[in-house]
Amino acid sequence: MTAQLLNGKWLAKQIHNQVKEEVEEYQPSVGRAPGLAVILVGDNPASKAYVANKEKTAKKCGFNTFDITLPRNSSTEQVKEAILSFNSNPLIDGILLQLPLPEHLDSNALINLIDPLVDADGLHPANQGLLMRGEGHLRPCTPLGAMKLIDLAVSGIDSSGDNDLDQEIPEADLRGKNAIVIGRSILVGKPMGMLLLERNATVVMAHSKTADLAARAREADIVVAAVGVPGLVKGDWIKKGAIVIDVGINRIPDGRLVGDVVFEDAAARASHITPVPGGVGPMTVAMLIYNTLQGYKRRHGLDNN
Ligand code: NAP
Repeated sequence: MTAQLLNGKWLAKQIHNQVKEEVEEYQPSVGRAPGLAVILVGDNPASKAYVANKEKTAKKCGFNTFDITLPRNSSTEQVKEAILSFNSNPLIDGILLQLPLPEHLDSNALINLIDPLVDADGLHPANQGLLMRGEGHLRPCTPLGAMKLIDLAVSGIDSSGDNDLDQEIPEADLRGKNAIVIGRSILVGKPMGMLLLERNATVVMAHSKTADLAARAREADIVVAAVGVPGLVKGDWIKKGAIVIDVGINRIPDGRLVGDVVFEDAAARASHITPVPGGVGPMTVAMLIYNTLQGYKRRHGLDNN
């Protein structure tokens, strides 16, 4: 392996520390900690584990957490009621509706009910529209976390040790760079493309109907794979020195979690690569906390924007 590992666990910890410091700074004047509300419908074990992890991290950062767990067969009306009750609660600065929802529920229609100001996942159409215009605050957590990992790669800061970060990681200017995003979901691919474009990269948005994906990928200085197909991206698709961000999380028959990229082969060619697990996953949680802090700051006039 020649690539440097982009350690998402380490970077997420640095963000938790920064958020915690800000909470300690603001709480005395505001009179309360930020509040994160989580709605879980059903008992999907992966979703339950994700929610537990998000709540644990929020508490570690000094947040209050509120949660509603609804049975799998809940009606649209019941989920709607939970969302509306959180929208009108002045102690809540971020609402997360854990996805995927059971099939009988329309995720988009329910996401549309979340107050855009406390849309911690950044998936409300108002926030996605603002992203399209290069405005707004709340960006979807997974692509935002992936972007922070690209910033880390470009900064050259080493994330492999135990040392805490003692400097700001600058936002990378990707002018002149070619990027490919494989996957075009609302959750990851499309907003990822917009974030890369915002940083001046020249972006190819690829998907299941793209012709000769390998050739497209070989032109890219930055490859973001967000597909959900284990090992789709082969080592020889990676240009020498490229940054590789593997968003995919796939459980394979032997029980292991793997990404969309053939890790060892890609790592032999890339300059930087994210592991799975331990890359984008922890950053998604860190960005949820970060977005909730933005909601808190805006509510209390503490943001500079
Ligand atoms: P999704 O909604 O299923 O979208 C998958 C995308 O991949 C679609 O745009 C699809 O194209 C494209 N695709 C499927 N097969 C392809 C192929 N053979 N070649 C090229 N493109 C192909 O999935 P998602 O929600 O974006 O999630 C993608 C992956 O990221 C999943 O593994 C998911 O578990 C993971 N994920 C991880 C995190 C994290 O925190 N690390 C967060 C969210 C998601 P079409 O549009 O043409 O169908």
